[in-house]
Amino acid sequence: METEKVRCLIIGSGPAGYTAAIYTGRANISPVLYEGIQPGGQLTTTTEVENFPGYPEGVTGTQLMEDLRKQAERFGVEIRSGIATSADLSKAPYKVTFDDGKTIEASTIIISTGATAKYLGLDDEKKYAGMGVSACATCDGFFYRKKVVAVVGGGDTACEEATYLASLASKVYLIVRKPYLRASQIMQERVLNNPKIEVLFEHNTVGLFGENGVEGAHVVYRKGEPDEKQYDIAIDGFFLAIGHKPNSDIFKPYVDTDEIGYIITEGATPRTKVPGVFAAGDVADPHYRQAITAAASGCKAAIETERYLNEHNL
Ligand code: NDP
Repeated sequence: METEKVRCLIIGSGPAGYTAAIYTGRANISPVLYEGIQPGGQLTTTTEVENFPGYPEGVTGTQLMEDLRKQAERFGVEIRSGIATSADLSKAPYKVTFDDGKTIEASTIIISTGATAKYLGLDDEKKYAGMGVSACATCDGFFYRKKVVAVVGGGDTACEEATYLASLASKVYLIVRKPYLRASQIMQERVLNNPKIEVLFEHNTVGLFGENGVEGAHVVYRKGEPDEKQYDIAIDGFFLAIGHKPNSDIFKPYVDTDEIGYIITEGATPRTKVPGVFAAGDVADPHYRQAITAAASGCKAAIETERYLNEHNL
């Protein structure tokens, strides 16, 4: 098996990974960045990004990631395609193996592998991706001003997103598979007291329809029960809020994670409990999950990396 030694290995190519790459590249650390499962990260699945500072006219998610990539390349970052399949962080130098069989021995690692939004698994979610289907209300809600949208889920995220969307849209359906919400009391109350939100308890979505984008959803009430009823609702946007899965599996034996799998770092720093191993972006952030907050944590991880390498003469 081929092994290569590097000073800094960055895993993941979302805003956190690329920002870490720009900073470490500029600091002459010669980082190697592996793009991971989804080159460019979650932003490449959204259309227009209007809230990333520096783009007064907005920018497409793909363009923003392309710009970040170019900026990283300018500072000599080596960007490779590949997915990390296993890791050994038991002692330094740390070892990470990629899907091409190559093992990297790294003095420092920045884990910026992101989180993957969960989808229902309907073919129509893929068919209408970027055409009415979204997993981020904060990113895409603005496009549904005065329109009708549906949010799927009954947890805090779903309630938060439904409330946010209700401030923009004319009507919001909240599609909940159980007869109750799982969200915290205060979030439930906000949803149930909002005249623009209609909660469809005990409903499942079985399909979407529309000519040039989402125009409606096929929903089923009390699926499998004698009083089962299938009907359609007219909507312009379909938002998934059924949870995210942080991409932290291979690191779990070595770093602390919460019950969902988000990596726990030391206070507001990106330090994990393994010296020289940092976590940045959505893999360590269950709360904000924004491109700009991910970029900021990538910057912090890069500064920590530089200090660690200097302190240890690496
Ligand atoms: P949760 O796991 O809490 O909730 C997921 C919701 O999606 C549940 O209602 C679940 O239904 C539903 N769901 C899951 N799979 C499906 C499916 N296939 N079809 C239909 N519905 C489905 O995830 P969240 O993202 O809401 O929250 C994650 C964590 O983050 C929680 O701990 C939450 O409290 C926290 N959070 C806190 C916030 C805050 O404090 N401001 C804001 C946002 C999140 P069911 O109940 O039937 O399992």
